[in-house]
Amino acid sequence: MSNDRTASTRGSLFVVSAPSGAGKTTLCRRIIDIFPNLRHSVSFTTRSMRPGEREGVDYFFVDPEVFAQMIAAGSFAEWAEVHGNRYGTAIDTLEQWRNCGHDVLLDIDIQGANQLRKSYGQSEAVFIFILPPDLTELRRRLEGRGTDAPEVIERRISNARGEIQASTDYDYIVINDDFEMALTQLKSIIVAEGCRSSRVLPALATGFDINI
Ligand code: 5GP
Repeated sequence: MSNDRTASTRGSLFVVSAPSGAGKTTLCRRIIDIFPNLRHSVSFTTRSMRPGEREGVDYFFVDPEVFAQMIAAGSFAEWAEVHGNRYGTAIDTLEQWRNCGHDVLLDIDIQGANQLRKSYGQSEAVFIFILPPDLTELRRRLEGRGTDAPEVIERRISNARGEIQASTDYDYIVINDDFEMALTQLKSIIVAEGCRSSRVLPALATGFDINI
């Protein structure tokens, strides 16, 4: 499937946030494989690499000093502290992809999304929130992972309450109850946004020899 776009049009940002345990990472991985024009924004982080992660693929892993220098140099489109580590999206990453006409998928937290909402207009960025069906299911998934201590699970659930409140600021909500249905909904959002007149018409102006 392709969200067709000519290279003369700058790409859009698809900003995806979710409480931990909502299934965001798996959904984002699948969606990148579906749309050839969509690129994953690789963030910078100060957290340590987990087993199986790769430098430059999952994250750019940097020292806190390097991260602080990047903040001072104004290199980030947004950055935030999440669970005790810093994460940020480099402006260069976004702009290079967008200038080539690629859409960019950002998997970032609600603080980062708030910052991008202020700097990118409605025709440039789409905000999508992924939710589990309820807190009971969220707890079941977090416990089922078997990776977090009980107090970490409690903290993630309590954070999730605040994050879910923030979902009212997003353009779309996808409930990840049935995974394939959630994937279909996410796909549909990206396809529909690609057909938005404010995105399509500027690309058509040259071909139709009109001013829009
Ligand atoms: P993890 O350490 O589990 O990969 O990610 C923890 C959280 O940080 C997730 O909610 C993820 O979406 C968020 N995150 C990852 N990259 C960025 C980023 O560049 N900016 C912000 N604000 N959050 C990020």
